[in-house]
Amino acid sequence: MIELDGVGKTFNTRQGHSHTALQDIALSIPAGRFVSILGPSGCGKSTLLYMLGGFESCSSGQIRVKGKPITGPGPDRGPVFQEYALFPWKTVLGNVAYGMREQGMPKAQAEQRASEWLDKVKLGPYAAFYPRELSGGMRQRAAIARTLAYEPDILLMDEPFGALDAHTRVTLQTELLSLWEQLRNTVVFVTHGVDEAVFLSDTVIVMTGSPGRIKEVVEIDLPRPRIRSEL
Ligand code: ATP
Ligand code: MG
Repeated sequence: MIELDGVGKTFNTRQGHSHTALQDIALSIPAGRFVSILGPSGCGKSTLLYMLGGFESCSSGQIRVKGKPITGPGPDRGPVFQEYALFPWKTVLGNVAYGMREQGMPKAQAEQRASEWLDKVKLGPYAAFYPRELSGGMRQRAAIARTLAYEPDILLMDEPFGALDAHTRVTLQTELLSLWEQLRNTVVFVTHGVDEAVFLSDTVIVMTGSPGRIKEVVEIDLPRPRIRSEL
């Protein structure tokens, strides 16, 4: 369970002004849910995700995971952000093993697990490639594998498929859902796409901007599997 209680974020800008990005966010996300966050550009979606990840502090209120206030990043929360790009100097296998090595896993075991995860995201034959040798979709698959491999309870995804072409996006959405149906971890997924949110999620949180607030929480009552006509 993730609980947000009166959460706000005010940034002090370089010009000496303050800017309230988020105000009074109250939310409970039960474990095992797939939740999407939708809202206009600048409404604070990424900021909210960084705060859930522990990369930004709250200016007011509190975020609790399993009842405990979060104090920083932790292996229970795995980010897949566009900024968390793959390391260009490591191979695909090295990148995926890295997350587990960071959690203290011995090298041989981490590499074994990394290669199993590469098979799951259909990158088995690309283990020795460097990120620059992969397409955008393949890189995002590798980034997802790197995070899922250390088994975070909560997956935090910031527009992970935003930069991909429509066909690759639908393929990766379907793959993510089928992985999630096996793992059943909690996913918080930021997107601009209403159809993506409805396809993937149990719950859609709709935000408004200036300052960012929650406008609506919509439960999606569609049975899985959901068929996509684009495929
Ligand atoms: P987009 O859909 O374009 O990604 P977003 O909803 O993710 O937008 P955020 O990136 O969270 O929006 O930004 C929310 C607001 O907070 C914006 O007005 C932005 O300028 C401001 N902001 C974000 N990070 C900082 C920062 N480090 N310092 C100052 N202001 C910031
Ligand atoms: Mg953003």
